[in-house]
Amino acid sequence: MKDDPAIRYCITPHRPSGHLFDVQCTIARPDPAGQRVSLPAWIPGSYLIRDFARHVVRLSASSRGQSVSVGKLDKDTWRCMPCEGPLVIAYEVYAWDRSVRGAHLDDTHGFFNGTSVFLMVHGQTDRPCRVEVRPPPGEAARRWRVGTAMPRDGAAPYGFGTYRAENYEEVVDHPVEMGEFTLATFEAAGVPHDIILTGRHRADLDRLRADLRTLCSHHIGFFGEPSPMDHYVFLITAGGDGYGGLEHRSSASLLCSRNNLPRAGEQGVSEEYRTFLGLASHEYFHTWNVKRIMPQVFRPYDLEREVYTRLLWAFEGITSYYDTLALVRSGLIASESYLDLLGQTITRLLRGGGRLKQTLEESSFDAWIKFYKPDENTPNTVVSYYTKGALVALALDLTIRRDTRGARSLDDVMRALWERHGKTRVGVPEDGVERLAHEVSGLDLRLFFDRALRSTDELALDELLAFFGIRFTLRPAESEKDKGGKPAAKPESALTERPVLGIRLASDGPEATLAHVVEGGAAQTAGLAAGDVIVAVDGIRATRADIDTLVGRLTVGATIRLHAFRRDELMEFVLTLASPPADTCVLALRDDVDDATHARRGAWLQVGPVPPKTLGRARPDGAGDHAPP
Ligand SMILES: [Zn+2]
Repeated sequence: MKDDPAIRYCITPHRPSGHLFDVQCTIARPDPAGQRVSLPAWIPGSYLIRDFARHVVRLSASSRGQSVSVGKLDKDTWRCMPCEGPLVIAYEVYAWDRSVRGAHLDDTHGFFNGTSVFLMVHGQTDRPCRVEVRPPPGEAARRWRVGTAMPRDGAAPYGFGTYRAENYEEVVDHPVEMGEFTLATFEAAGVPHDIILTGRHRADLDRLRADLRTLCSHHIGFFGEPSPMDHYVFLITAGGDGYGGLEHRSSASLLCSRNNLPRAGEQGVSEEYRTFLGLASHEYFHTWNVKRIMPQVFRPYDLEREVYTRLLWAFEGITSYYDTLALVRSGLIASESYLDLLGQTITRLLRGGGRLKQTLEESSFDAWIKFYKPDENTPNTVVSYYTKGALVALALDLTIRRDTRGARSLDDVMRALWERHGKTRVGVPEDGVERLAHEVSGLDLRLFFDRALRSTDELALDELLAFFGIRFTLRPAESEKDKGGKPAAKPESALTERPVLGIRLASDGPEATLAHVVEGGAAQTAGLAAGDVIVAVDGIRATRADIDTLVGRLTVGATIRLHAFRRDELMEFVLTLASPPADTCVLALRDDVDDATHARRGAWLQVGPVPPKTLGRARPDGAGDHAPP
């Protein structure tokens, strides 16, 4: 159609067994000087250069049946010779990445993010897009359906056919799943939600539907109705292992173990299911916090190169804080279960020496080269803006609540961010979160932010939590598997007598291979290094399965011999066993607190005297109405 300004994409899973999508991009009015097109170097939400163009297998161009010469300008970019148009660019994309960030295709299903398959047409990224999703060849494909939040433009519900997006940024923000998936639907605050579940599973769909409805209603209530999206899709891939999620404006891609999904007849919320609910909660909260309330530098996204921000602590950390807090506030888990998770988060922070070297702002800024490119030294040098960010959000929330006597909280700051930057789509400047926190709370938080974001000082969480009736204790780990959060089964004295080597083992293989050596620990002092394979502890053969037990039988302060292979050379190390650090956090609700503390805690967790259903917009201590409902 001559006057149609839309960029048209047509995608076919034409060779599932070869993992190849066939894609055509039609440009009605190509650049008269020669049209340039490229694939993004990264996908929003995952801050690593991935160069999706590396999976383009063949690319050719034509116009009105005549071949158009096309050449490459750089790793991601092609240029077609000038032609009158329409210009048709045809290519194949190899899709064998099962993560939530790429594209995947085989005989059982197909999945893609637009960043992997849709060429960006330079100079025309504001144009509307039409996407024709075609079925794969063959008989089996008759049963395939399509799941996506991309608005339909002629396609039947869950059907192959044409979809649309307002521009390039939108078309790459609606991942698409196709195959024989399980479909469940529910409404939250009047918004239809789809659960698209791929992979073999025995999940209790009614339970999943009910719990996700509770969770989504809670989040919508938190920011206030109406919800910013008119349709939402959870694209879930369940398998034997894997864990991850990626947020989009009206959907989330989740990858989890099938054991994370609730089974029929399962009572309560198991730790595995709690992990799934936390993941879904996290990505859903992002619908507001990062997909709409966005760093100014992401407006618009420059998908050709790294985009630096010091704000990932706010977008990932605050989201991580609320993902689990929402579980207790919405009544899906008990307060004790929430404190268990919080204790684990504090434990993770304390076990990484990187918190003493890198500030939260530095971690955010360097995400591209550090957090997203972990190596054997990462725990010693990098602090996670998820983990520390969540705890800074906790500290900020409790500080505002304490110092305003409950009149304000981080909830109010988030709602103000939503009003100021989310609804208006005005990007958040690098100091925007801090400024709004000052404004909303009326507190001078400069010292708080300088310490929390721009120093490596330890967070004083114990004092803050005590003010809210939470007992904070630290103890040594009980075993290598001890993640914290829970009291130990053994008495404290037994824990302090358990010597440690200061190592972390690789999680696979039968051998005791060192994945990481703790800076300043016994192993590093003795000369051991990441990659070494410990074969004997004090003359006794050691494997991955029994090294913890072998070391546990020895005594703190004892000097032992340790044998290990470095590459293929056997080496001997003399090592003095150290006492274990008290790096495992346990939190508990104190029941001996006064009424005021009890009320503060109830207002924060939204449990207790205030009925949970009304709590999305509660003003517990009679605060004014600064933030929007
Ligand atoms: Zn996130």
